[in-house]
Amino acid sequence: MNLLEMNHVQKSFDGLNVLKDISLSVKEGEVLSIIGPSGSGKTTLLRCATMLETMDAGELNYLGNKAVWNNEHGKAVYATNEQLKKIKEYYGLVFQSFHLFPHYSVIKNITDAPIHVQKKSKEEAYRTARELLKKMGLEEKENAYPYQLSGGQQQRVAIARALALNPKILFFDEPTSALDPELTGEVLKVIRSLADMHMTMVIVTHEMAFARSVSNRIIFMDQGVIAEQGTPEELFNSKNIRMKEFLGKLN
Ligand code: ADP
Repeated sequence: MNLLEMNHVQKSFDGLNVLKDISLSVKEGEVLSIIGPSGSGKTTLLRCATMLETMDAGELNYLGNKAVWNNEHGKAVYATNEQLKKIKEYYGLVFQSFHLFPHYSVIKNITDAPIHVQKKSKEEAYRTARELLKKMGLEEKENAYPYQLSGGQQQRVAIARALALNPKILFFDEPTSALDPELTGEVLKVIRSLADMHMTMVIVTHEMAFARSVSNRIIFMDQGVIAEQGTPEELFNSKNIRMKEFLGKLN
């Protein structure tokens, strides 16, 4: 079953065609990594999937909840507010630079949206948050503030915060690129444990060894198109010249 379908997505910035007719789907339980050179459109694709960016044309379909964009006739999005709200409930997003609220404690960061957006009871929100903190190995840190935590710990809080809303798909935008190498491992370990629990995830990453070992499928983006996609083995043995060049540069 596809949890997400993106169809014919196009996006330009100031005449620069960043996404050129991209279509993809994400199956339930799948871990999909998106790799590719800097500037190839990976982050923009993720931002379009999560409606942080308005696409010029294309369609999002989250389990039958559709939104269609078409700027040609001056109307950007064809979807009711109700549909857009529903779509937003399907996914969570983890950013490169954590984006925690600096003036909130760890537990308040995690419980704020469940209490104020999802209208969960305080007891339930705190119970869930504590379970998640335990999974993240941070049960001692619930009253700490972000500045008291390492980058790796902050990112694990950000993952807990996203999970607290019970998303069907979790998107990661280069979740370890702001971290020192010694802190990267602890975040990748958490993501791997989510994969083991069959959490559906879409991960934009530069961590090739990680993408290779954790993904069911990898998409290689190049100059605004999906240049190649397949299993990790298919991708890493690809004959695609741009893919080979990309992997070669990293080694
Ligand atoms: P990647 O994630 O693969 O590095 P991005 O999606 O961040 O690629 O960027 C793709 C291209 O779009 C780049 O040339 C970038 O400069 C441009 N771009 C991204 N966001 C904006 C923006 N908000 N305004 C103008 N150009 C942008």
